[in-house]
Amino acid sequence: MTPRVAIIGAGPCGLSQLQAFEQARLKGADIPEIVCFEKQADWGGLWNYTWRTGLDEYGEPVHGSMYRYLWSNGPKECLEFADYTFDEHFQRPIPSFPPREVLYDYITGRAKKNNLRRYIQFSTVVRQVEFGEGQFRVRVKDLVADQERVETFDFVVVATGHFSIPNLPKFEGIEQFPGRVLHSHDFREAREFAGKDLLVVGSSYSAEDIALQTYKYGAKSVTISYRTAPMGFKWPEGIEEVPLLTKLEGKVAHFQDGSSKKVDAIVFCVGYQHSFPFLEDSLRLKTKNRLYPGSLYKGIFWLPNPKLMYLGMQDQFYTFSMFDVQAWYARDVMLGRIALPPYEEMAADIAHWQAREESLANPFEQIDFQKDYIVDLADQVDYPSCDWELTTELFKAWEHDKEQSILGYRDKVFRSPCTGTEATVHHTPWIEAMDDSLASFLGN
Ligand code: FAD
Ligand code: NAP
Ligand code: MG
Repeated sequence: MTPRVAIIGAGPCGLSQLQAFEQARLKGADIPEIVCFEKQADWGGLWNYTWRTGLDEYGEPVHGSMYRYLWSNGPKECLEFADYTFDEHFQRPIPSFPPREVLYDYITGRAKKNNLRRYIQFSTVVRQVEFGEGQFRVRVKDLVADQERVETFDFVVVATGHFSIPNLPKFEGIEQFPGRVLHSHDFREAREFAGKDLLVVGSSYSAEDIALQTYKYGAKSVTISYRTAPMGFKWPEGIEEVPLLTKLEGKVAHFQDGSSKKVDAIVFCVGYQHSFPFLEDSLRLKTKNRLYPGSLYKGIFWLPNPKLMYLGMQDQFYTFSMFDVQAWYARDVMLGRIALPPYEEMAADIAHWQAREESLANPFEQIDFQKDYIVDLADQVDYPSCDWELTTELFKAWEHDKEQSILGYRDKVFRSPCTGTEATVHHTPWIEAMDDSLASFLGN
């Protein structure tokens, strides 16, 4: 019998998995029967922008964490699909840091070209996955028809992302704070904070970008509160970093160094949880956001039961291209082209990568680590060649550019590791570009 594969999620990872199978099919391989379940009405995952927050039209938790005016925070050259380049999609060079709608167009462009939609059941949420007698029992709900059903599969690929379920601790006095309090997951429109004194808690990408966004769209001041270390960029006047928030008294926020600041609103950019409520306990990945989550051989295969695979569960420098390489590798295991080693060997391999992860001293070493991880997979599959060494140079230049100018780094241009094409300079510096539409970005 033809094996059956369930892919959960049609975001970038789910689409990479579909693309990987489709490429094999086009080259003449017998592929399994594939069903991709996507709870949203359309594909693209986080890149499929939604204005909704909280619960969606069916009472399901809203997946989207992206907001208006979001631009890529890394060079597009570092995430380029080697089998569908930016040149192929846009038919001309474009700048290196595109806004969300442009990247959405690119991701979904490849999926449209290959008609991947035919594999996907939209508005269908996976409720439960259990394993027994060599098979997965997957209970799904068709949200439109309001009907549940159970199907069985030989393999399950979890591609549901890990930046949607807020991690949000309690801070003293927050119940009495007389202003808006939200997690970055619910942040949508920076103009809401125009003229206000805003407190941003956190010191990673969300904190950095939401501070810059709200500054760009007119916040009076932005105070960023860090737990472990400040980001330390050369912030413009109006943005400052302070130690951790200790308590709130009315509108006054107190920080660990004894300083305080009156604020009108608070955005908690304190990260997300890996959350898989639909998986039975024995199948459920439990990890913090790190470069090499435990219990995943090759960062993909669930060690206790490798017929269950996870894509994109890593902390991410690399994104779309890493997801592709993972998906190609997962495909080749499912097609029987790559054999997995015995349990002990897989466990030792994970331990080896994790030990190296723990020794990494700085972002440069982290970038090299993730590149080495990708190359380890890419070497064994037929993913088209790409200059991975160049991508690490680009990432390191990008880190340097951010240190030079946190407002200006998105104006830089890079060279494609797939085609060699040099990006063009955008017509407007990022800090002045208020219109983030695809039309504005491409129109000159
Ligand atoms: P997601 O994009 O989260 O997609 C997961 C999909 O699974 C969703 O469509 C969801 O609806 C579906 N799903 C979830 N649960 C179920 C279920 N039970 N049943 C059925 N379907 C389900 N990366 C970059 O490269 N550049 C950026 O500039 C960038 N900006 C980002 C900004 C923000 C605010 C965030 C949060 C992330 C950003 N990222 C960025 C990283 C992002 O993680 C990846 O780009 C990418 O979206 C990850 O793809 P994914 O498929 O793993 O997950
Ligand atoms: P993240 O990278 O996991 O960072 C979580 C942050 O929360 C860390 O700074 C952490 O601080 C802090 N934190 C956790 N618990 C805390 C606590 N109790 N008190 C204070 N601080 C706490 O999550 P993220 O920043 O939301 O980024 C998620 C993803 O979204 C990334 O892949 C990023 O690239 C992407 N993103 C992209 C853009 C864009 O511009 N395109 C914008 C936003 C996000 P410690 O360092 O102390 O642990
Ligand atoms: Mg970090």
